[in-house]
Amino acid sequence: MSDLSDLYQEVILDHNRRPRNFHTLAGADRRAHGHNPLCGDRVTVFLKMDGDRIGDIAFEGSGCAISKASASLMTEAVKGETTDDALAIFDRFHAMITAPTDVPVEDDESLGKLVSLAGVRSFPVRVKCASLAWHTLKAALASAADPVVTK
Ligand code: ZN
Repeated sequence: MSDLSDLYQEVILDHNRRPRNFHTLAGADRRAHGHNPLCGDRVTVFLKMDGDRIGDIAFEGSGCAISKASASLMTEAVKGETTDDALAIFDRFHAMITAPTDVPVEDDESLGKLVSLAGVRSFPVRVKCASLAWHTLKAALASAADPVVTK
């Protein structure tokens, strides 16, 4: 089990050091800002919708390693998914990180690398760090389409 924890640790460190899709998104038609005052994490999620599908997604922000790694992993998990599927992934992810610590982490293939964040369930304060980007994604999906601003 400790080997597995080390592996998860590696995924989080890697995504913190080299966050994926970490930039603004030209032509984004939806966006939302999120803030976790408990830790100081801030994130902006950009979406470019393709019908009901998340055609492209990116994020910017600053915060702790957990918040940044979670946002990075999230962008990889939901890119190309429909709104409903993305929200379903969030529900499973949220259930995983808030489960009691004595419940074994299910080897849920649908969560993929997101399983690496299961360890935050032992640190309730960190749950907010790990879920910030997801709540922000949800807000962006629910927001009215932005007029496209060209500069
Ligand atoms: Zn944090």
